[in-house]
Amino acid sequence: MDGTVLIVEDEPDIQKLIAVNLQHAGYRALRAASVPEAEALMRGALPNLVLLDWILPEILGVTFAKRLRNDQRTMDIPIIMLTARVCESDRVAALEAGVDDYVTKPFSPRELLARIKAVMRRCAPQRTDDIIEIGGLKVDPAVRRVTCDGHDIELGDIEFRLLHFFMTHPERIYSRAQLLDEAWGDQVFVEERTVDVHIRRLRQALAPVGREKLIDTVRGMGYRFHRSLN
Ligand code: CA
Repeated sequence: MDGTVLIVEDEPDIQKLIAVNLQHAGYRALRAASVPEAEALMRGALPNLVLLDWILPEILGVTFAKRLRNDQRTMDIPIIMLTARVCESDRVAALEAGVDDYVTKPFSPRELLARIKAVMRRCAPQRTDDIIEIGGLKVDPAVRRVTCDGHDIELGDIEFRLLHFFMTHPERIYSRAQLLDEAWGDQVFVEERTVDVHIRRLRQALAPVGREKLIDTVRGMGYRFHRSLN
């Protein structure tokens, strides 16, 4: 599944090189040359990951990382720092600021993509392309295909995203508001009861293969996806 990566990098050549490579790999790339520019972009939709240069004009990358971590709205966004600095005190400062990983300049685009993929997998498994199999259901996000016992299951976009999120986060209870964030994104205003409509559609799609009971309604709380039918 694709994701949006915000690149905060003041060197135009490096910014462009990263953006081109990300786009080739199927990501959407947003570009900012400074922290204020990045903040302006993030007032709209939030990215799925931030690539953050250490040395930026006006405000340092590491300062921005701390800001993101201290803000309820952005605290869960994975951050990878780009740095030419390798001394230990800087590494400690980066980790203390709450970044998930850092890549030392100069880096190869391949290395950077591998790190992005690893961090996304760790922080948001529903945003990777890995095939997932649970309870006999198999989801292949790269080709957006769901199968069960050899049968194809046709799903709408929202139902697909719900199922993918559930399968990457089984056995946990999610409120309707949380599911809205995951399946509809940050930007859309949708009523919480809309979630119930799409859960019903998802169950209907899973019923012919007998898997509708994997989705559990937890009264007063939300929904939970089970690993198996037992
Ligand atoms: Ca720089």
